[in-house]
Amino acid sequence: MSSTKPLPFDEATVRAIAEKYPTPFYLYDEAGIRNTCRQLNEAFSWSEGFRNYFAVKATPNPHILKLAIEEGLGADCSSKAELILSEKVGLTGEQVMFTSNNTPAWEYQAARELGAILNLDDITHIEFVEQSVGLPELVSFRYNPGSARAGNVIIGKPEEAKYGFTEQQLFDGYRMLQEKGVQRFGLHTMVASNELDGSFFVETARMLFDLVIRIHQELGIRIEFTNLGGGIGIPYRPEDKAVDLAWVGNEIKALYEQTIVPAGLDPLRVVLENGRMITGPHGYLVTSCIHHKEIYRKYVGVDACMANLMRPGMYGAYHHISVLGKEDAAADTVVDVVGSLCENNDKFAIQRSLPPINRDDLLVIHDAGAHGHAMGFQYNGKLRSAELLLKADGNVEQIRRAETYDDYFATVDFSSFQ
Ligand SMILES: *Cc1c(COP(=O)(O)O)cnc(C)c1O
Repeated sequence: MSSTKPLPFDEATVRAIAEKYPTPFYLYDEAGIRNTCRQLNEAFSWSEGFRNYFAVKATPNPHILKLAIEEGLGADCSSKAELILSEKVGLTGEQVMFTSNNTPAWEYQAARELGAILNLDDITHIEFVEQSVGLPELVSFRYNPGSARAGNVIIGKPEEAKYGFTEQQLFDGYRMLQEKGVQRFGLHTMVASNELDGSFFVETARMLFDLVIRIHQELGIRIEFTNLGGGIGIPYRPEDKAVDLAWVGNEIKALYEQTIVPAGLDPLRVVLENGRMITGPHGYLVTSCIHHKEIYRKYVGVDACMANLMRPGMYGAYHHISVLGKEDAAADTVVDVVGSLCENNDKFAIQRSLPPINRDDLLVIHDAGAHGHAMGFQYNGKLRSAELLLKADGNVEQIRRAETYDDYFATVDFSSFQ
């Protein structure tokens, strides 16, 4: 099957970039990221106070975060480093959602200092937060529906997932908050990851809207926002179809009008915390072919490796590969595309049909803009690559330099080896 995915640049552009910044490098497309943010905002424009809190962990680079903020997004953080990044780009207070789990007191402290919304992962954390850093006026809970929801492949079954409160704990938890004088309440769940079926998110909204109504009936509490989580998938494969955001937005709007409005609970803010769908499709790992090898299979060796992008090795994830300048050539050669780690799962593609590839050809690995560079590591002494931003005006900005050996060795003390 020969199928292609479009690219926002051509071979000449990337060759010129590669002269200045050696491969491998990540290249992000500013116009694409902005466009996606706008589509998502448009789909929920009916909802007063809608906001997608960008999951910082997907692409923790301040220059990328800044683009998202300029498009009206907030930040979803789960660690102190992500809180620091958010603060650096000027996001504070309720523009930041702190959805963490198994959280130490010092990270709650950092979130409190920033004024972030605390989204607690467990009922015991109510007292933990109260005793360590004090409860804020607004507290949100993460709900785990257990066997009430099927979950999906990456995130797994909710009842096997470590996250969140049971339904009974939710009711008990809000009651505790009430008794402790907390005034404002949020409700969150995250039951999907990389989900391409838009109706999944509509069902999540149905589940949360129903809870909001029951919580109001039983406890007299008005939940201020429902956070449907992240997890909107992206079409990694050429034959995959992107989630129809406008459809999802409309369906959730209809549900809101059928349930929340008649219950007298309007306005209820609807928020999301997607990372992948915002930046994933707009980041590319660019790498050069450095070797060929023919044994029992044919291999194409590239200068990137699993340390630059671990999703294929870790999840068996499909990432489309284009060979620049050969987009229209027949994909008639079956190869494994491999890196140089001493690990046999260091493969970007397995038995993939590609055009014949020569040494120094540039390969573009698609859809690497989220959970790509961020999951990079240094095993085997591999260094993390540079990140470059292809700006809407066509210029290229280096937004993170490549690591050096000095970076790699910076944390060890060689003074006794002189
Ligand atoms: C990872 C994560 C997200 C973002 O997930 P995407 O698949 O990138 O949209 C949002 N919320 C929580 C709690 C997460 O752990």
